[in-house]
Amino acid sequence: MRTNQKCLAVIVVLLVGLVLAYGAMDSALNRSKKELTSPIATAQNAIHIPGSTIEINQSFSTIDPASQWVVVSKQFPLANPAYRPADLHKVSVASRLDKPDDELSLRQKVEPSLTAMFAAANKQGYAIMMASGFRSYQQQQTYFDSYTAAYGREKAETFSAHPGQSEHQTGLALDIAYTDMNNCYLEICFGQTPAGIWLAAHAHDYGFILRYPANKTAVTQYQYEPWHFRYVGKPLAKALYESGFTLDEVKPYLEKH
Ligand SMILES: [Zn+2]
Repeated sequence: MRTNQKCLAVIVVLLVGLVLAYGAMDSALNRSKKELTSPIATAQNAIHIPGSTIEINQSFSTIDPASQWVVVSKQFPLANPAYRPADLHKVSVASRLDKPDDELSLRQKVEPSLTAMFAAANKQGYAIMMASGFRSYQQQQTYFDSYTAAYGREKAETFSAHPGQSEHQTGLALDIAYTDMNNCYLEICFGQTPAGIWLAAHAHDYGFILRYPANKTAVTQYQYEPWHFRYVGKPLAKALYESGFTLDEVKPYLEKH
């Protein structure tokens, strides 16, 4: 009996000891976890684009067509030509109504930033609209064929994408114009209009970038398009604006993170 009681006591002491030791270990582990995820880890994972002070604490694929950082260009066509975003929806901002519903649509996730940017532009007195949003592969094919017929292939290629190579197909890009289509509608002079100047200077505050700048035609392989804006989210948009780099130029850099 005595021996049994002693044994029991020893077991109880051992169990209590184990529980206490586990508790101490657990809190020590939690403490070190916290230390690892706060400032040090953040600093290590943040992306800094050279020439910008912005710390980008998010990261997205540059290849996945559903990613807000995807690069779709002549060099990097969509892997799946039939790609169509799952969350396409008709935008609520002013848009060119004589276009098919598809083209009046963008991805749902762009909507809050788009409405905020248009509201700010309207407040400045600029009556603007979305002239073109999402374009399916077939739609782009139709446009490219008609431009080729009108201007010849070489000229058409400077301003119109081959189907599968247009970022309009991601539902993250849009063309912006004055509602008055006589005012530099999808023309280079739009960049010199008050709305064009304002958009170039403020789009990044809403997560958009001027995708084909005048001084980067050799990099983007597209002519200067002061009307074409692309959603990438605020941190990257601000970093690109500050640094002067295009999305194409930072692609390899973003992929390292
Ligand atoms: Zn465009």
